[in-house]
Amino acid sequence: MEDSSRTKFVRVWSQLQVDDVKKHMLYVDDLYGTCGNCKRLGLNYLKDKSCPECKTIFKYMATNSKNPADVAKLLTRIEKENIQLTMIDRDDFERSNASDAAKNLFKKL
Ligand SMILES: [Zn+2]
Repeated sequence: MEDSSRTKFVRVWSQLQVDDVKKHMLYVDDLYGTCGNCKRLGLNYLKDKSCPECKTIFKYMATNSKNPADVAKLLTRIEKENIQLTMIDRDDFERSNASDAAKNLFKKL
């Protein structure tokens, strides 16, 4: 019998407000996170829904790890704990930031 409830992690492309993402981002390494807005360290992505320092509510997360197994582990964890964070690919995000910086540079010319 086929299991119709089988789920897998699939990367989805969407158009996001880069500034909004930057502001509401939680950078996660292992268990600890850093606030993308004020850079406060030592946050727990499983417990801290907002930053204790600047009160930013986290909507997105990104990890330094390039290992898909690590990313899947994080995603499984937040899914299990029912945490409403959207995982952003860090390379994608940094590229979108860089292209913005380039655009601003061109505007000045
Ligand atoms: Zn903060």
